[in-house]
This record gives sequence, structure tokens and C-alpha cells, in this order.
Amino acid sequence: MRRVYLDHSATTPVDPEVAELMVKYLTDTFGNPSSVHSFGREAKKGLEEAREKVAALMGARPDEIVFTSGGTEADNLAIMGTAFANRNKGNHIITSAIEHHAVLDTCENLKKHGFEVTFLPVDADGLVKVEDVAEAITDKTILITIMHANNEVGTIQPIEEIGRLAQEKGIIFHTDAVQTYGRIPVNVDKLNVNLLSASSHKIYGPKGVGCLYIRKGTRIQPIAFGGGQERKRRPGTENMPGIVGFGKAAELAGKRMQEEMERLTKLRDKLIDGVLNRIDDVQLNGHRTKRLPGHVNFSFHYIEGESLLLSLDMKGIAASSGSACTSGSLDPSHVLLAMGIPHEIAHGSVRMTLGKDNTEEDIDYVLEVLPGIVERLRSMSPLYQRKEACKHKECYQNV
Ligand SMILES: *Cc1c(COP(=O)(O)O)cnc(C)c1O
Repeated sequence: MRRVYLDHSATTPVDPEVAELMVKYLTDTFGNPSSVHSFGREAKKGLEEAREKVAALMGARPDEIVFTSGGTEADNLAIMGTAFANRNKGNHIITSAIEHHAVLDTCENLKKHGFEVTFLPVDADGLVKVEDVAEAITDKTILITIMHANNEVGTIQPIEEIGRLAQEKGIIFHTDAVQTYGRIPVNVDKLNVNLLSASSHKIYGPKGVGCLYIRKGTRIQPIAFGGGQERKRRPGTENMPGIVGFGKAAELAGKRMQEEMERLTKLRDKLIDGVLNRIDDVQLNGHRTKRLPGHVNFSFHYIEGESLLLSLDMKGIAASSGSACTSGSLDPSHVLLAMGIPHEIAHGSVRMTLGKDNTEEDIDYVLEVLPGIVERLRSMSPLYQRKEACKHKECYQNV
């Protein structure tokens, strides 16, 4: 049976070139980069080369990159690190209702430490309004954190404009760019950010490694203690195989970006048009054009996203409902709810995210099997039968 992986926003396979380099740093070049002998110096060289590559892909200077254990830790360091370091200036943080839990839960936790957090709403497409950010700013605001692109619906936020606003007001601005770094152009100067989170495993690098970009002069303090690594910003012996793998993945992503963006946008649009044309009562979630190249999220009315995922899995197709982190819980996605999508429609949502090994034949296969699956699930759905019986949408919406 054909197997089609459509969950690249959850994670990606490690590129063979990346894996090859990692093996070298697991075996031959195993030294501790803090050691002064030749083994240590060789490792240190690999560490700094990786830092250059990761920095280059976002237009940053290598000394502005701090390696972390991934996107989650980068978000934690950005938010807690600036909150505690700037406490004397104020206690107010602005974020959005659709952030990844790495941001949302960190902000929630800061409330217990006396910080106040504004969670901005989004419109029906999942966009944050720049005017809303402007209105939320007070003289106590020390940090604004808004993600670059949303992991669940793929919508790309107006980060440049929000950054300009933050800059004018002298407020530290962080963006979680885990879904965009390596996928679309990301430049820290163009985006006007002080802090930016990225992760390796979303761009064909290994899991468990990522980075936080910290613009020179940004006041931030560490959130862990015990060593002077990473310019005293993130202690602990460096994850060398992970970091060199991340560097290689960033280099490859930069080389392939333009071509891959164009290819994935075509496949994405083929999938969107194909589904909307072949299946009734389905909606695309997220902005139609301001979205990640390979990102699709649909709500199939009258059915459960989870049942659809299981049926797709039986056909060899791997998709997800909302984010991988919330799958398994029965609450509908906080992102879809924040976009004003009713619970019953949010429950029918499925995310398909494309990547480098997907082909046009993969999309044809999905378009071939999906209508039948949806039809079968709907034939078992009491909601659908009721809708068919009365033919008025209102009936369904009132159940
Ligand atoms: C995956 C993801 C994260 C978490 O990154 P990890 O490296 O898995 O910790 C954070 N934010 C967004 C938007 C993500 O998609």
C-alpha cells in the first residue's frame, strides 16, 4: 500500500546528509567543545560552523544564536528570560490566543509570578490585527510575543508591522518562527524582532535541538544555571550531534527554499481545490493565501476529525487533527475556537502538511480516497442524516 506522510508540521524525517554528519560527531569528533585539547577544539569548530549556518539562514550574526533543546525551550527562554530581566520596567506581556502551548503555558505560568498577560484575539482567518497590538500596549508592557506562522492553520502573521510598532515603543519583540524558519524567508532585521525561536526537527534536522536568536543589546537572563556555555545564556554541555545536524539542515533548507516553496505551494493548492471541488460541506481553515506553502487545514462538517484520521491511516495516509500536542485530548483546538469556529465544526478538522518527499501522485492518491471515506463516515453520522432529512443548515447548527 502507498504510504503518504502529510504531517510535516509535527515533525520531518532527518535528511540523509544531516544524519551522515551527525554520525561523525557521535563517533570521531566526540570531544567536549569546552575542552582545550585537540579533541575539544575540533568539536568547538563544528559547533561554531553550525552556529554560522543557523545564523545565516535568518540574517543574524553567529554570536546572536543560543542553541537550546528545541523550539519549546527557546520560547521559554525568550519569554521568561526577558520577563525576569525587565521586571523593573513593567510586568505586562502581550501575546495572542493562537500561540503554541510553549508560549501560552509559559505566559500562563508567569501570571503566578505577578505578570499580567493580554491574549489578543484573531479574526476568522487566524490573523492578529496590528491595531489590536497597538491598543493593548501600556506603559507597563515589556514584551510582545506573536508567532510567525501558526502550526495548526498555517496563517502567516504581519510580524514586520508588529515589529515596527514594538520598535517605536521600545518594547522587546519575540516571534516563534518554528513553522517558518527554513520553510519561507525569515530575516531578523526585516521582521524587526529582538528574539526569534527556531527548531531543527521541523526542517529535516534531528529532534531535541533548536535555537533562540537574541539581538545584541536585548536584556535577557538565563532560566537554567550550571555552566558558562552559550555565552552564559544556556548552560550544559552542548548537544553536538544535534547542533551540527541542525546546522546542516539549515544550510540545505536555504539552498532548497525557493524551489521547494514554489513546488509545495502548487501541491497545496491542488489539494485545496481538489478537496473543495470533490466534497460538499467542507471548509478551509486559515487564510487562503497568507499561509505556509505546504499547509492545509480543513473542517469536514458532520464528522469527527479523529475518525477521519483513523480511516486515512488505514489507507496509509498520515495526517493530524490540530497540533500533535493536543491530539489525544478531546478538546477542540484552541486555535480554531479563537477563530470563531463552532465546536462541532472544529471537531471535524484535519491538518495535512506537505514536505520534501511528497509528490503530485501523493496528492492524487489523497483526492482519490478522501471522498469515499468522508461519505462513509457521514453515512454513519446522525448529524448528517438529520441535515439530509431537513436540508436546512440551521437545523444542524442548532443541534
Ligand atoms: C513544533 C513547534 C514548537 C516546539 O518545538 P520543539 O522543537 O518540538 O520543542 C514550538 N512552536 C511551534 C509553532 C511549533 O510548531
